[in-house]
Amino acid sequence: MSQPPAGSANPLPLKDRMKIPRQSMPEQPAQERIFNFFEVNRGYSEELARQEARRCLECAKPTCMDNCPVGVKVREFVQSIVAGDFRGAAAIIRQDNVLPAITGRVCPQEDHCEAACKLHKKGESLGIGYLERFVADYEQRMGIRHVPTAAATGRKVAIVGSGPAGLSAAGDLVQKGHRVCVFEALHELGGVLVYGIPEFRLPKQIIREQLDYMRAMGVEFETDVVVGRTVTIDELIEEEGYDAVFIATGAGSPLFLGIPGEHLNGVYSANEFLTRINLMHAWQFPAYDQPMVDLHGKDLAVIGGGNTALDAIRSALRLGARKAYVLYRRSEAEMPARAEEVKHARQEGIEFHMLTGPLEFLPDEKGWLGAARCVRMALGEPDASGRRRPQPIAGSEFDVPLSVAVIAVGTSANPVIQSTTPGLDTDNRGYIAADPATQRTSRRGVFAGGDIVTGSATVILAMGAGRRAAKSIHEYLCAGSW
Ligand SMILES: Cc1cc2nc3c(=O)[nH]c(=O)nc-3n(C[C@H](O)[C@H](O)[C@H](O)COP(=O)(O)OP(=O)(O)OC[C@H]3O[C@@H](n4cnc5c(N)ncnc54)[C@H](O)[C@@H]3O)c2cc1C
Repeated sequence: MSQPPAGSANPLPLKDRMKIPRQSMPEQPAQERIFNFFEVNRGYSEELARQEARRCLECAKPTCMDNCPVGVKVREFVQSIVAGDFRGAAAIIRQDNVLPAITGRVCPQEDHCEAACKLHKKGESLGIGYLERFVADYEQRMGIRHVPTAAATGRKVAIVGSGPAGLSAAGDLVQKGHRVCVFEALHELGGVLVYGIPEFRLPKQIIREQLDYMRAMGVEFETDVVVGRTVTIDELIEEEGYDAVFIATGAGSPLFLGIPGEHLNGVYSANEFLTRINLMHAWQFPAYDQPMVDLHGKDLAVIGGGNTALDAIRSALRLGARKAYVLYRRSEAEMPARAEEVKHARQEGIEFHMLTGPLEFLPDEKGWLGAARCVRMALGEPDASGRRRPQPIAGSEFDVPLSVAVIAVGTSANPVIQSTTPGLDTDNRGYIAADPATQRTSRRGVFAGGDIVTGSATVILAMGAGRRAAKSIHEYLCAGSW
């Protein structure tokens, strides 16, 4: 029982593997990193990676893999790390994941592979995400590329949107020999990965390198094309000769609170705030002109408790904010942000005010934002999301002086494609209706997946949808009909 499985590269008996503590991720110290945008997590060394990999129990039924939305063969790649074969580990990951350096950094593994890891029940799960990142970074450092050699099928697929859903589908389809072009509305590729997630969590150079890899695989990209405006889905099929289309346009329209004062100067949607920092280069000030209000010495709050809220407030801190608050109407237990991000934010001095909801934004003497009037909340019965519903406590109102407030309470679907594609069904929230197993829509030859179907979710769930769509599109193209 305790013996290593036959043929294992790891000589340690299983009971000894369980005695190895989970290897910590080296980090940039909090007191340094609040003054820069360099990455917080520094990545494993070869020795740390091999030591962490030695903890793997090599389960006969690897539930970690079953719980991965893209099906990465975790046990196999981890065993390659144990053997010191990092190149082999990269080849294994690449079979199922075209963006390993990205998922290794931002995928919520604690909800997927690591939650299903047998070590999790006995203590701390295997650091699968950290190991994936190590392998992906090794691959990039060494310039290793696994370029597909499938014979060209002569079929053309258009992918709309260059976020993780679109990129994942593109990677799988090009490996089947189809010609793939990704159309992106913005001037930069990557979707939320590039305009939402800040440099200190996901460096832009990492995204660029993953995109270069995809170009080397044969994926074509066209930026500044707003499908539904520049060209319609029907024109792509009827005039440009695409045999199938995958819509992966995300859920990028910000939601607001609908409270008085939201129009004041100084109140931003998280979408605009982060786009200004990431795409318009505020994070590189003074090398680039500052495309937003100077935050130095200002008091700033973000409203919300997800990854977006934490990305916004931690960016603000790095841009000089004096006080940086998170105002969240539920308690920490209900916060959707990754636990690691909450930990990092606390280390950096972000102040969390739980059970706090804004009622109104109040102007200063110049008519700009001056304060948020808030109310304390208590948690009642669970709502439709399963989380306990916050209810205001009468008479508990108080004002928080603020110069900038960032609203990060969710997003919705942009309707441009839905409104210009006849016969494309949507659900009652405006998202595209697609079969969850095949990603087929009501339109023949048109598939959809990622946030534009599910609403705002995660990178790996969007990638899983991209993979399912690629499989269905391939079957559709081979069969010629469905
Ligand atoms: C700030 C922030 C932080 C996040 N952090 C995490 C995290 O740490 N971990 C995690 O797993 N998830 C995180 N998420 C969620 C995750 O990023 C999304 O679930 C994921 O990016 C969705 O992928 P997608 O491909 O469906 O859409 P997107 O990433 O939104 O990409 C859609 C792309 O389509 C383009 N597009 C839209 N309309 C058109 C059109 N008409 N024509 C052409 N192109 C179009 C958009 O410009 C965009 O580039 C975060 C989200 C945000 C906003």
